[in-house]
Amino acid sequence: MLVVMQAHATEEQVRAVCQKIESLGYRAHPIPGAQRTAIGITGNRGEVEAGTLEEMTGVQEVIRVSKPYKLVSRDVKEENTLISFPGTNATFGGPGLAIIAGPCAIESREQAFAVAERVSRAGAQFFRGGAYKPRTSPYSFQGLGEEALRVMADIREKHGMKIVTEAIDNESLELVEEYADVIQIGARNMQNFSLLKRAGRSKKPVMVKRGMSATLEEFLMAAEYVMSEGNYNVILCERGVRTFADHTRNTLDLSIVPAVQRLSHLPIIVDPSHGTGKRNKVTPLSRAAVAVGADGLIVEVHHDPDKALSDGIQSLYPEQFEELMAQVRQIAPVVGRTVPAIGTHAAVGKTIGVQAGVRPAAS
Ligand code: PEP
Ligand code: MN
Repeated sequence: MLVVMQAHATEEQVRAVCQKIESLGYRAHPIPGAQRTAIGITGNRGEVEAGTLEEMTGVQEVIRVSKPYKLVSRDVKEENTLISFPGTNATFGGPGLAIIAGPCAIESREQAFAVAERVSRAGAQFFRGGAYKPRTSPYSFQGLGEEALRVMADIREKHGMKIVTEAIDNESLELVEEYADVIQIGARNMQNFSLLKRAGRSKKPVMVKRGMSATLEEFLMAAEYVMSEGNYNVILCERGVRTFADHTRNTLDLSIVPAVQRLSHLPIIVDPSHGTGKRNKVTPLSRAAVAVGADGLIVEVHHDPDKALSDGIQSLYPEQFEELMAQVRQIAPVVGRTVPAIGTHAAVGKTIGVQAGVRPAAS
């Protein structure tokens, strides 16, 4: 159920409707839009009686939302969600693309800083690196845990890049939310509903990666879980799904980008590293992802991939990442996007990050 307020409805009227909803035992999610505020109603007590709400002042209409996802839907919010980081030009869902780069895992302080130096110089506004690794084998490298989080916090301090890293369970999420700027929920956890709910109670933006066999609806429902707990800063990430094709590690499903954008206001980025599993395919698929309208990229880069403890085969050499950025810079303007200029992401307080370009509307 969705309460659409009149364009001129006052804050008190919105508050009164929210209080009414809560008094009926539901949760109210006021989502301000450019034209008007919509209030999503969630709760597991069944349908709300629309009549009482319809009669309240400032209410335009009460709509039944037939789709299973509500808060992620464009029915609730027509315009794109913009997630920004004060003091930087790093955004998700704005005209500027979000570029996340770094190693699969933090292996040592030296390794992390060597990669950070290069990706920062090439223009990445976000640094990635696993501290907790969900590995297929329990005998594979599992990550350095909090030590890795501390290293990444120092990288943010030095290079101004924002930190994106994965939480694999409620315990690691406690620490990840303390150190990171964006909490990553990995493909294997896309339907770990208690973890999604816990992330929904965090104040930090959450990036949900698509599960290996998740449908579009399941993917959106994972984001709905996070939002239902009150965290509306959710980023979706397409990272490939498992198919019969064996020329790549996964099949990168770029068609999900416009499909998501049609249904949801949330930003969606693409991971061509896990999506292909092959270094030589990462740059071509990055170009394609930008061309299809993705809001950003997450790319694995290692200064010495042959010695990487995880995912070396799909990790770019730093010079390959520089070339990827050069190519993406050429594609972006064709689709009305920009790539923030090199070295500007840490420009605290300056406005040089704001560049022309409009994210294309959903079609
Ligand atoms: C990762 O980004 O390091 C990762 C493990 O990704 P995914 O969850 O998509 O496999
Ligand atoms: Mn990886």
